[in-house]
Amino acid sequence: MNYDQILQEIKEEVKIYNQMGAVGSSIPELTKVDPSKFGIHLVTIKGENYSIGDSNEKFSIQSISKVLSLSFAFTFLGERIWERIGVEPSGTPFNSLVQLEYEKGKPRNPFINPGALVIADMLITHTKNPKTEFLNFVRTLTNSDEIDFNLKVASSEKAFGFKNVALANLLKSYCNIENDVDEVLDFYFHQCAIEMTCNELANCFLFYAHEGKILHNNKFILNQSQVKRINSLMQTCGFYDESGEFTYKVGLPGKSGIGGGIVAIHPKKYSVATWSPRLNEKGNSVLGMKSLELLTTKTGMSIF
Ligand code: GLN
Repeated sequence: MNYDQILQEIKEEVKIYNQMGAVGSSIPELTKVDPSKFGIHLVTIKGENYSIGDSNEKFSIQSISKVLSLSFAFTFLGERIWERIGVEPSGTPFNSLVQLEYEKGKPRNPFINPGALVIADMLITHTKNPKTEFLNFVRTLTNSDEIDFNLKVASSEKAFGFKNVALANLLKSYCNIENDVDEVLDFYFHQCAIEMTCNELANCFLFYAHEGKILHNNKFILNQSQVKRINSLMQTCGFYDESGEFTYKVGLPGKSGIGGGIVAIHPKKYSVATWSPRLNEKGNSVLGMKSLELLTTKTGMSIF
């Protein structure tokens, strides 16, 4: 497969959409990013890397971190996670409060904000130093010590994340948060504020395409069954109330974030990350979605 040529074609073909959408405004610090940035990085399970555009520039991974926090919790809690969180698509925006109330404090899935807040609570309960241990987990997956939190982004969200404060308190009122609400929010804002390049993000997620093993040392992070489950959740819940649309157009499991990143997995083939900050009204990157639709169309390969 000539991925170099395919990525070049994609870059040309998505240009007509490059004024569509707007940079997310819910976290003031994120509005400072240049909206014209665009990059793609694809890494195969043979370790071949292909990239175009701004693929070596850091951006805020935001909700993409929810897959990593779930995976970290999975390593020590296994199926017990599902006593407190469901595995169904929500059909609602990522920060919706309504469903959480009528479903009595049990979030539909781990990729909407209330689900990720419960995972954050679990990590705080089960680790001594949650932020450091989580960061080390992500650094191990990426094989890079350069991965870090952007503290300005974390404090910007802390100052303006009113809906997350409301969600955490609603969860607490249903006894689905064990720790102090402020501590859970602080951890959550930091995990979302992790920065990566497309190159780092694609490589970090490669183990989901490689049966749970890190490529460079063949070390198992999750077993095959757990990877199947996380990829299934990305497929059904990775794009909030646009998960059906992404599945229909792209046909791969993936996850988006309001920093404009998207990562998608082709099991046993590759991991691919895109970054373009302009978002559609569901909070997903316009060019990222278009690029991945073109990728699976041009390669003729998806999981279906
Ligand atoms: N930190 C963001 C929030 O909680 C993450 C949302 C996202 O990337 N969709 O609102």
